[in-house]
Amino acid sequence: MTMVVHSDGPAREFLSGNEAVARGAWEMGVEFAAAYPGTPSTEILETLARLPGVYAEWSTNEKVAIEAALGASMTGRRAITSMKHVGLNVASDTLMTMGLVGVKAGLVIAVSDDVGFSSSQNEQDSRFWGRFVHLPVLEPADAAEAYAMTRDAIVLSERHEVPVLLRLTTRVSHVKRTVTTGARAQPDPRRHAYEKDAKRWIMTPDHVGRRLELRAQRDAALAEAAAQSDWNVITPGSDRRLGFIVSGPACHAVREAFPGAPTLKLGFSYPLPVAKAKEFASLCEEILIVEEVEPIVETELRAAGLKVNGKNALPLQGEISVPVLQRAVGKLQANEAVQRTAPMANVFPRPPTLCAGCPYMGVYFWLGQLKEAIICGDIGCYTLGCGEPWNAIDTTISMGASLSVAHGMAKALEADSKAKPMLAVIGDSTFLHTGMPALANLAYQGTNVTVLLLDNRSTAMTGGQNNPGNGRRLDGSPAPRVNFAKLVEALGVRRERIRVVDPYELPTFFKVLREEMKAPEPSVILTTRPCVLTEDFERRQPLKVDDDKCNGCARCLDVGCPAITVRRRERQVRSTGKVVDLAWVRIERAMCTGCDVCAQACARGAIAP
Ligand code: SF4
Ligand code: SF4
Repeated sequence: MTMVVHSDGPAREFLSGNEAVARGAWEMGVEFAAAYPGTPSTEILETLARLPGVYAEWSTNEKVAIEAALGASMTGRRAITSMKHVGLNVASDTLMTMGLVGVKAGLVIAVSDDVGFSSSQNEQDSRFWGRFVHLPVLEPADAAEAYAMTRDAIVLSERHEVPVLLRLTTRVSHVKRTVTTGARAQPDPRRHAYEKDAKRWIMTPDHVGRRLELRAQRDAALAEAAAQSDWNVITPGSDRRLGFIVSGPACHAVREAFPGAPTLKLGFSYPLPVAKAKEFASLCEEILIVEEVEPIVETELRAAGLKVNGKNALPLQGEISVPVLQRAVGKLQANEAVQRTAPMANVFPRPPTLCAGCPYMGVYFWLGQLKEAIICGDIGCYTLGCGEPWNAIDTTISMGASLSVAHGMAKALEADSKAKPMLAVIGDSTFLHTGMPALANLAYQGTNVTVLLLDNRSTAMTGGQNNPGNGRRLDGSPAPRVNFAKLVEALGVRRERIRVVDPYELPTFFKVLREEMKAPEPSVILTTRPCVLTEDFERRQPLKVDDDKCNGCARCLDVGCPAITVRRRERQVRSTGKVVDLAWVRIERAMCTGCDVCAQACARGAIAP
């Protein structure tokens, strides 16, 4: 994605929510930004990294990022950390204690929930963290609010010495609109100082009690701030039969579908302004709470004694669009006309697939044929190995889980004489994120798992960000490069069981795979080809199919390369009575990277330069 963000203001700019968060943070004098890439939040850091006066880094995981931002705040530098919803789970150990120690200079945690789970292993509602950690939650509805709320979040954070949770969703993060931006307020050097304060920054048990008391005082002050906030707005409306209490981007669906309805729009949604909600409820005959994803506001208002509707009418998952809302209101009012007003659009399904020449294709070409093995997958482009034509993966749970799940399965099945060989597949960035402790444990426990560590020198799934495995920092400057073979050995895998192979060499890769699967101990196969979208990748001459040699056997389709397309299909009945489906193919030369994997898969020698 190409983004242009002007570094001086004021101006009218067309920004996504992620760009707007970055812009708002920058204008407030934020000097430090750390993140781990993850859809839908990635562009926040990428935008900040292009603005002057900000130190920005891709950290190795979200816990590292949030701790780095806390450290910067302790020294008086305003800071931001950004992540997707599951990233905040990784950061949560530190987050919980941050709720106690608080911050010095303003610190914003921008977390983007993948509502609708377009690119995640689950759907979560990060507003719960506000309740759990005692942090204020701001919920922008679009890019303009994301910009303004980020600015306010810094002020709120400093006033109450608390990190502020800016809860975005996929729609807010990615949809663009015009935003009126301003100039950067230069960082105030009077803030810049680290003060030793053991009772605050050292969270030993004898200091916790005092911080809990202070947190309770802060809760009360934040509740008052939310009650007075201009971000929580009542619009009286003209049709009082049904009023909406709404937060996040769903407010646009409410405005579009029911323009005359009263609304209480919650922007500063935690602590929940209960008195204002009661005042609003007194204006309406009936109330519908419209929130993505969980019934959080609904539950709290019910507990406060209000009679409200919510997830009894609305779905517990996905975005709340105009048709979804209309159906819910129609159901609530038993009004079929309202339910029928907006049919859902049908979009042709486009399942994701690997890129032409992706180094994972050769790996999955073989793994897809290992019907006698259990293969635990992980989070990255290689998750796509679960789909056609490979169907190679048995599990995908969370970042780094491939190794530990495989370890647990292998240990549990150890005494089973019919146990299948156990494999785990993980990429370089995910390995550095949370895979290393799992491999150390696996090696320590001596578990018989064959680990495929696919080093493509990139955090590829989120757009090809640099990481410690490719020797480049976020700004492209050279950095020490992790030596994965040495790292794996240092974690406890015997040197003899660490095999470095080229995934483009199909026969060699298969031979090594069989050997390591037979080895009765932990082993690691390290693949070395870079992602085709990185600067390290070298494109070769494209290949083509010799139609005279091709017999339509379709084996090359098992490679799964999108550059190979079928030009003709035919079902034939052999003399034995066997029915075979044949497919004659061609190669889209503009897409072909010349990796040669399909040529090695073709027994007829029909594919060549
Ligand atoms: S594997 Fe070779 S012979 Fe079979 S369809 Fe592909 S190009 Fe044709
Ligand atoms: S050589 Fe074959 S597998 Fe490789 S990119 Fe070209 S068509 Fe795809």
